[in-house]
Amino acid sequence: MTPMCSRPHARRWSDFAPTSFTCFANSVSLLDELDAFIDANWDPDLTVAEWWERLGLSGWAAPSLPEKAYGKGLSRADSLAVTARLGERGVLGAPTGLGMLLAAPTIATHGSPEQVEEFIRPIVTGQRAWCQLFSEPGAGSDLAGLGCKAVRDGDEWVINGQKVWTSGGQIADMGMLIARTNPDAPKHQGITWFAFDMHQGSAVDVRPLREMTGRALFNEVFMSDARVPDSWIVGGLNNGWAVANTTLMFERAGLSAGGSGGHVALANAGTIAGDLPKRVGDFLKPRTPGGGGGGGAMVAGAERLFTALAKANGKIDDPTVRQQLMKVHTLTEIARITALRAKAEREAGRELPGVGNIGKLAMSDLVRTCRDLGLSILGPAGTLHGYDSTSAAALAEATGNPAAAYVTEMAMFAQAPPIYGGTDQVQRNILGERILGLPKEPNNDRVVPWSELPRNG
Ligand SMILES: Cc1cc2nc3c(=O)[nH]c(=O)nc-3n(C[C@H](O)[C@H](O)[C@H](O)COP(=O)(O)OP(=O)(O)OC[C@H]3O[C@@H](n4cnc5c(N)ncnc54)[C@H](O)[C@@H]3O)c2cc1C
Repeated sequence: MTPMCSRPHARRWSDFAPTSFTCFANSVSLLDELDAFIDANWDPDLTVAEWWERLGLSGWAAPSLPEKAYGKGLSRADSLAVTARLGERGVLGAPTGLGMLLAAPTIATHGSPEQVEEFIRPIVTGQRAWCQLFSEPGAGSDLAGLGCKAVRDGDEWVINGQKVWTSGGQIADMGMLIARTNPDAPKHQGITWFAFDMHQGSAVDVRPLREMTGRALFNEVFMSDARVPDSWIVGGLNNGWAVANTTLMFERAGLSAGGSGGHVALANAGTIAGDLPKRVGDFLKPRTPGGGGGGGAMVAGAERLFTALAKANGKIDDPTVRQQLMKVHTLTEIARITALRAKAEREAGRELPGVGNIGKLAMSDLVRTCRDLGLSILGPAGTLHGYDSTSAAALAEATGNPAAAYVTEMAMFAQAPPIYGGTDQVQRNILGERILGLPKEPNNDRVVPWSELPRNG
């Protein structure tokens, strides 16, 4: 057996860290404009809230949003170039999280100008953090079967029900809530998408669920007579399935291989996390391995990380490891080229059918390959994990592998991307039915009222 790496071979994390992003922006003037903005506005002595206010209101925080919704209408590739440039310039990146990834583009697509002002402005300036209140214990893949109830009471709706797997619910100010507003309509037709205030005392009970990584990324959320104003319906009453599909489309795109993994803001958005009043310059330390993030953030730079790790552990000549390294390289390249192809199609006024679903499946494949590769390189040390910074440091010390805890966290987290945002099986169903035109499974749930459908329990 190849021996574990000894101390002299140990590398610092910075040796493994990804290099800066390939700049996709065709237009140098775009980045010149960004540079001019940074030169005029960046000051490490601002608070996080003040810096994000400047970044958000200028359109640089969410440049892929339309101009009428605090963006610049840029393509995804150009937005990634903006994200990368913010990182290269050593300034704090834009607020991250589900507000930016999902709520803002959904509201920009379906919301009124008043809702853009009410909801998107505080998202791009980091003032409000959002969570996604979609999944329920009995409604995950079959999301349209959800049972959380919204009953009208004057100008408000009263919400009762349970959500689950709510990522970031414990620090969310707002939720993207889908609830049943008409139980007598077929299941896809009686759902409404609400912007939902999470600050409602005991009416909104958020209970963290601990994962095997040691962190508690997601939560159960119980709503008991919670309230939401009628004016916070986004996209129209009983039209929530269409609006939710927009959210899910942005989710798939954001979780795809070939596009994510940019600079991760080290400060948290929203009023609960407590970062807004702090000095922005104090958030610029390099991101440490194992700090979380989705699949995209985890696999960014994976090729360099694993090559360096294999060298440090004397595994670089192992044919199995070399084969897996090539697979990571190939999957990464295919994803990058697919993203460029999709961009070219969009610029020509066309869409690549199913590219979001394919990209998400590719991400699942990439994280699984990274899981297997990392554990092959670590060998028996891969059975140990540092659950917090102290035990991660102890693991690094004991194994001589500074990235050991990062690799084991990636291996445990690799189970998540094939599930969240729609499972691999569901992505394949969508590709089969909507793109290839295969017949759907026989089902009458599009015509029978939701209240008459069979349910568990
Ligand atoms: C890390 C993580 C974060 C998440 N964050 C959020 C969040 O913030 N907000 C939120 O609302 N949800 C969130 N989710 C929930 C996620 O969207 C659901 O877990 C997912 O949609 C699957 O639903 P389920 O867990 O109920 O599984 P089920 O739907 O019960 O599926 C169980 C299994 O059956 C398979 N299956 C189901 N239906 C079919 C079918 N028709 N054809 C073939 N196979 C099928 C599935 O692929 C799966 O393998 C998160 C999940 C994870 C893992």
